[in-house]
Amino acid sequence: MIKDKVIIITGASSGIGEASARLLASKGAKIVLGARRIDQLQRIAEEIEAAGGQAVYAKLDVTSQADNDAIVSLAKDSFGRLDATFLNAGLMPNSMLSALKTDDWHQMVDVNIKGVLNGVAAVLPTFTAQKGGHILATSSVAGLKAYPGGAVYGGTKWFLRDFMEVLRMESAMEGTHIRATTIYPAAINTELLHTISDKGVADAMGGLYAKYGISADRIARVVEFAIDQPDDTVINEFTVGPANQP
Ligand code: NDP
Repeated sequence: MIKDKVIIITGASSGIGEASARLLASKGAKIVLGARRIDQLQRIAEEIEAAGGQAVYAKLDVTSQADNDAIVSLAKDSFGRLDATFLNAGLMPNSMLSALKTDDWHQMVDVNIKGVLNGVAAVLPTFTAQKGGHILATSSVAGLKAYPGGAVYGGTKWFLRDFMEVLRMESAMEGTHIRATTIYPAAINTELLHTISDKGVADAMGGLYAKYGISADRIARVVEFAIDQPDDTVINEFTVGPANQP
């Protein structure tokens, strides 16, 4: 059941994270919003509260372990418990390797991989002690299928596939009952394209999204479905995208 679950969402200031926060709050979950754009978080939290939901927020840079630890403390201090964390923050500055956009490469590793590791490290002690909890992560169809321009982005998302499956397996072995769900979205209309620094790639991907992109609430519905499962049941993976995207 979603109602009264306390759920952290990273990357909650726009796109998939924002849509998930709004939907889960409308179903009675208590939401802890994290991202760097605090003004956006404040606006979303106020709108959730105005609609009768419950939400708190904190400035979170997922590359900081201290920030990740602090948002777990905020969840517990605000709502007395923690049931799930949705590790969703990410960026996609795609480019051809020959362009040598090495700053983008490192940023993707820092946010898309290390950000998730930091988020998991922050919740594992709590979930282990309470023998339960749910960790969800946003991978991508780029984590399932290689494409030119997506070597590093795709690599960070492939990483999640393996990592989340092993997390699930180890938790089952150790009897800590942590559910691990990985979501593989295709083209979803969000601010993600703004993170592309290569103009040619941005234009090409912009065309693809203009043709196929669907709204972020489609992913939120899947997140809700995964969290809503009984505690003894885990949805390991979802691939979700536009019905007309080849
Ligand atoms: P958005 O750009 O709308 O959202 C990305 C979110 O990540 C923002 O809230 C941003 O917040 C946050 N973020 C970025 N860097 C950091 C950081 N260092 N610390 C904390 N938060 C950070 O795009 P989406 O909603 O599309 O992206 C969400 C996830 O979905 C990403 O992991 C993306 O890779 C994945 N995805 C998206 C697809 C799509 O088609 N849109 C397809 C497949 C996967 P802020 O800038 O305020 O920190």
